[in-house]
Amino acid sequence: MKVSCLVANFRILLLLRRLFVACIFFYFLFSGFFVEAKCVFVFPRGVADGDTVFLSNGLHLRLALVDAPEINYEGGLSQYYAKKSKNFLWHLIKHRQLCLRNLTKDRFGRLLAQAYLEDGKWINFLLIRKGYAFYFPHKGEFNKILLRAQRLAMQEEVGFWKRILSLPAAAQVFLGNKKSRRFHTLECKFGRKISSRHRRIFSSLYEAFYFGYAPARCCTIWPLE
Ligand SMILES: [Zn+2]
Repeated sequence: MKVSCLVANFRILLLLRRLFVACIFFYFLFSGFFVEAKCVFVFPRGVADGDTVFLSNGLHLRLALVDAPEINYEGGLSQYYAKKSKNFLWHLIKHRQLCLRNLTKDRFGRLLAQAYLEDGKWINFLLIRKGYAFYFPHKGEFNKILLRAQRLAMQEEVGFWKRILSLPAAAQVFLGNKKSRRFHTLECKFGRKISSRHRRIFSSLYEAFYFGYAPARCCTIWPLE
């Protein structure tokens, strides 16, 4: 009697284990499906620069985790490579439907998203991988993969990296802020205000970008053209 009871318990345990494995399998299968389904389709009607798209619905789309050199920086000349970045983005997306994922809004009311073409090309990734934009750290998914793409672009010196990394100013020391993940020049008053707890010292521009810090607006060494 006791033996048959043990056998019955064992069978129940085996059944429960199979049920558990099946649940895990279906969870991953369908969670993947629902992530795929979360795609908002939009049409571009123009671009402001290499990271901002004007949409046909009147909204502005800011490509997430990406920052491109600016056209008419602070109302003046454009930053080095800004026009090339803008042209690259526009040629990539014009007359094509965009699929937006991980969609949120920023504090200016712009849409913030990862954007894909129908053939699966990931626009945010391509901009960084080809040296038309740099990685702009922010919370959320895809930080690691985009930083890896930037490291490859830097190593291969594609796009703007060849000139940017060989600027005389690129050899100086930079001060990073571990909290904001931005870096400043040594001369910058905001850089000097970073507390020792949050300060990270980089021996070159290469090192600052390599570790995924982005240039602070207050003291960027990015050349104009
Ligand atoms: Zn600064």
